[in-house]
Amino acid sequence: MPVKEGTHLTMNAKGNFIGGAWVAAAQNEVRAVRNPSNTDEVVGEAAWSSPEDIDAAVRAAQEAFPAWRRLPGPARARVLAKAGDLLASRLGEVAQLLSREQGKPIGEARAEVQRGVDLLHYYAGEGWRSAGEVIPSVAPDTFLFTMREPLGVVAVITPWNFPLAIPLWKAAPALIYGNTVVLKPATASPLTALAVAEVFAEAGLPPGVFNVVTGPGSALGDALVKHPQVKAVTFTGSNAVGTHIAGLAAARGIKYQLEMGGKNAAIVLADADLDQAADIVVSGAMRFAGQKCTATSRAIVAESVIATFTEKVVERVRGLAVRPATDEDAYLGPVVSAAQREQILSYIDVGKGGEGRLAVGGGVPRGEPYDRGYFVEPTVFPDVRPDARIAQEEIFGPVLAVIPAKDAGEAIEIANRVEYGLSASLFTRDLNAAMNYIREIEVGMVRVNAETAGVELQAPFGGYKASSSHSREQGRAAIEFFTQIKTVTMAPAGGKH
Ligand code: NDP
Repeated sequence: MPVKEGTHLTMNAKGNFIGGAWVAAAQNEVRAVRNPSNTDEVVGEAAWSSPEDIDAAVRAAQEAFPAWRRLPGPARARVLAKAGDLLASRLGEVAQLLSREQGKPIGEARAEVQRGVDLLHYYAGEGWRSAGEVIPSVAPDTFLFTMREPLGVVAVITPWNFPLAIPLWKAAPALIYGNTVVLKPATASPLTALAVAEVFAEAGLPPGVFNVVTGPGSALGDALVKHPQVKAVTFTGSNAVGTHIAGLAAARGIKYQLEMGGKNAAIVLADADLDQAADIVVSGAMRFAGQKCTATSRAIVAESVIATFTEKVVERVRGLAVRPATDEDAYLGPVVSAAQREQILSYIDVGKGGEGRLAVGGGVPRGEPYDRGYFVEPTVFPDVRPDARIAQEEIFGPVLAVIPAKDAGEAIEIANRVEYGLSASLFTRDLNAAMNYIREIEVGMVRVNAETAGVELQAPFGGYKASSSHSREQGRAAIEFFTQIKTVTMAPAGGKH
């Protein structure tokens, strides 16, 4: 049913994007999305869908699959490149929406939209590149080669923290390799995902190739992962939901890919440039209020420099601008929701209760402009034990635990002593120390004199241990998840057996 203004949906609500059209949720429900910097502001409304809507979207995606998979790669590439150009032309507007919907400081929101543009252009290029390999056959006059084929309908389930980049770094490779997509974005940030659908539609993506269904993951997730026409699921979010999805997907024998939490450490050795290390650790821990899976949440520091380093960090954190996200000078904005703020504050209470020594922050800023948003003060706890809860569990907020270590060996051992293994940094000038760390650290993304957060989009992204299901996203690595290999042997007719 097409959405009409003034009927069951308001002017702000587009509905779901299914089969190339905007359609109301089967039960005609919508939910308001509020600005976490100022909860009086309704940014828009999104459909509150049910499993019926998931079924419609998956069917549309299945119907679109045969024609899309047969389209030559360069033709698919043209659509993705055009979508990239269109997104670039709307960068400012989409960044504003992202920032208001989700509380990301506007500068970082622009960078995220630019990343979306780059992802679309990068994966457009993949449509022109070779996929598959030629293998020498032991048989005479025989061709032995592999082809990379799409899987079919791919379910994409995404969190709120990168509401544009994560949907695109999953959907763009899925699409270029010939799959069709049903995206279920997070309830906290559906509107940015709908802007992505608009861009694809305008770029001429055929109806049904990319679909978006908004609404509660708890009700829609199982319907999506269990749908018989869904052939793979790629997910980013919490470990609890990820492992649930893995169970469902494994029971059906379909492919799944999970990117989950982190407890990322920055190790600072005695010979490090302490100003550089302090700048980068503060950025990794506090930008976007620490709501990145790759955020720096532990600084493990050589005992001989820990007092100086901590002083530098605390001084910088005191000067950070906590502002509504659309303020140009916001270093960090609010956190995304009341529930997320409660969780962060409960960890801060654990820290204050004896796990560390509170050096800065530790509460909620009061007065204008803070009282109408979900703000949390950037917080640093020095003198934290490696096994303390705030040093072990993911907080997903602007909280840094500083942990002493005797030497580089002990620092690496402490860094590895968590269940996660997403990303880590080392600050040093010592080449041998860096080489040893690169070898011994148990994470998927290793940095030297650089921030734990972020990886360039042309390189593989993913973690060790409980941080991921071990497949990799982004770059050329994405081909492994979004395609299957067909091995072809072709012998001449009439040859001897
Ligand atoms: P969730 O796991 O709660 O949600 C992620 C997505 O899954 C959302 O779209 C959500 O929908 C959906 N979902 C919820 N329940 C189900 C279900 N039963 N079946 C299928 N899908 C479901 O995480 P958050 O979005 O709250 O993100 C915060 C967490 O995600 C952090 O703790 C962090 O660890 C992790 N994260 C990891 C990243 C990484 O790259 N490794 C990146 C970003 C976050 P709905 O919103 O409607 O509940």
